[in-house]
Formats: sequence, C-alpha cells, structure tokens
Amino acid sequence: MPRTCMIEGPVTTPPLLSPTHSASPVPLAIPEGAIPEHDPYGLIDASHLDERYRPPSPTELATTFRHSFWQTARERARRAMVDADYPLARRFSFQCCGANPLVQIDPVTDEVRIKARCCHDRWCRACGRTKRLRLSKALAEICAARKTLAVVLTPKHNDKPLGEQLTDLLANFAKLRRHPFWQQNVTGGAWVVEVTYNQKHRQWHPHLHVFVHSCWLEQADLSATWLEVTGNSYIVDVSLVENVGRAVRELTKYVGKITHRSWEHEHDLLVHAMRELNGRRLCNTFGSLKGTELQPTSEEVDARHWLCWGSIDQLFRMKDAGDRQALAIHKALVTGHPIDDPDLAWEICTHAHLGILPGDDPPHLLEPAACGA
Ligand SMILES: [Zn+2]
Repeated sequence: MPRTCMIEGPVTTPPLLSPTHSASPVPLAIPEGAIPEHDPYGLIDASHLDERYRPPSPTELATTFRHSFWQTARERARRAMVDADYPLARRFSFQCCGANPLVQIDPVTDEVRIKARCCHDRWCRACGRTKRLRLSKALAEICAARKTLAVVLTPKHNDKPLGEQLTDLLANFAKLRRHPFWQQNVTGGAWVVEVTYNQKHRQWHPHLHVFVHSCWLEQADLSATWLEVTGNSYIVDVSLVENVGRAVRELTKYVGKITHRSWEHEHDLLVHAMRELNGRRLCNTFGSLKGTELQPTSEEVDARHWLCWGSIDQLFRMKDAGDRQALAIHKALVTGHPIDDPDLAWEICTHAHLGILPGDDPPHLLEPAACGA
C-alpha cells in the first residue's frame, strides 16, 4: 500500500505551523492598558501584550468556525467574566479560543479534523464539547464493566448562595458514602454536579448525578438514608443503566455545558455562578473507581498520528476557488465522514506529510514511486 510508506519516518513540520501552536494557552501577563478605558467589557487588545507571550488572535473565520453554535451565549459569558473578576489572562485566553486552526488528516482512516488553540475554560462550550467526548468515553467504559445504577441526589431547596449549597451537598454525599447502607451495597462510581435555578423562589439548586456500581438500591431505602444524612432532604432517584449511550449522554451534558437554561440568560446569575463555582470540582470518582481518569488527555483518547494539511483560512479560500483537495476536506468536515475519494485522500496525505503548502503545484513527489511504493 503506497499510503503506508507515507507515514513512516519523521514527519516534517509544515511551514504553516506556528511555533506558538502548542505553547501554553495562557499568556503570562497582560497590562491593564489592554482593555479600553471607556468600556470595561471591551475586547482585550492583543497589541498591548508582550510579543513573546502573545497568543495568535483568531481570525473572524476561525472564531465563526469554532463558536458559531453558541455565539450569543459566548458573548454573555465573556462579559460575565469581567464582573466575576476573572483574571485578564484567563479572559484573554477565552477570547482567543479557536486561534490558529489547522486542518489535519489521519493517513490511515482518511478522517479530517480541525486542531486549534483552545482555552480549556469550563465556561467555553466549544472546549466543553471536547471535555464531554473524553468524559463520555471514560464513563462508557465504567458502565460497560458491570451493572451500573444512575442515582440522583437532591438537597432540599434553600436560600443559601450557590457555593455554600455545593459545599453542603458534597459534604452530605461524603457522609452518605461512609454510611453502612451505602458501603454494603455500593463499591464505587462517578458523580457530576448539575446546577439549576428556581426563578419563582429565586433559589439555586445544585444536585448530584451519580453512576454507581452496585446491587439494586431500593429507592425508599436510599431516600431514608439520604434523609438521615442530610437531616432535611429525601428526594432521590434510582434507575438501572440499560442504554449506556443514552445514560452517558445525559450525565455528560452538564460537563460540556455547565450553564443551565434556568439561569444562563441572566447576567447577575451568571456572574454569581462564575464566582461561586470558580475552582470547584464538578465531577469526580469514588470508591473502587477512585483514581479513574475522567478527563484523559487528547493523546490518551486519540493516539493516532495526524498530519497537518494547512490552515482553515486557506481551506475556505481554496474551496471557494474550486480546489479539489479543499472541496474534499470541506465535505469531510461538514459530513463528519472520512474523505470518500481514496486517491485524493492519498494525495492530500502526501502533501501534508511532505509539508507542501496547499495551493502549491503538486510536484513529482506525488507519484507513488517517489515514496518507494
Ligand atoms: Zn475554549
């Protein structure tokens, strides 16, 4: 197979790769002057940054490509970060999420993807999608290993601030895990926090979704134990995880998007949540699953060797000009399927492997004989 020989040996770095591409996403320092004086919510001006630490600003196309599905909510989050007193460096990193997007291709499967500089902020839904994918994979493995129950633990509604309620909830959950009833039945599991807001009573309502490895738990028994532990809360839900995919999707949606429709549209509530949840752990494992990595790195999830083809700006420019490679890559990105023309995919891989800029005339190197086939 001629394609196999293309991925052997060291891969040259294509000239398009910026040296800052894989650098730390957080700039070291941002001077106050980087924010417009008259508008505290204004975008941070990258020209005030020390050039050495200045991450690339995303082009409009890059921003649209990565964030169009939550553009309005993203702007709300960006403004709320200002009033939540988040550090400038974090806000700038959030603002620049999606910069330097590169088109990559897997030479084995002909799949394509976009790899960009990510902010990894929990308030970024674009990054949340990636987190959710990783968590889904980890949880699906946990559920498939043995019988799993989905448990929801709910505290009684009260007027306390969100952070205080979360502290109480997690303390009560820790107490529950030490209770004989729990210890006799449950060996381990994983939990995720969901936060909702009751508009009528103006109350925050964090609650826990837990996957447990356990023999069957009677709802009445768990309810009585939860009441004993909390002193005032008895609402619990227990169900057997039969459809792993659906259960995992349900549980992980709170990780990919920690905001909830009951409070995300109100600036003051968003600011409150940003302050109260800052630095707080919102998912974890316990018992026999303690130490199980819920957020494995992308390398652990995807050990494939991706080749860089070029930038996304080039992709769209060349697609508009009718370039065959760009059209095929764009189609694969839109449909989520691998490139459907094997010969063209091979040509794209060859270009990427040899670091040939898209748009350059394909030289003799494209001939199968050139790579030893
Ligand atoms: Zn992000």
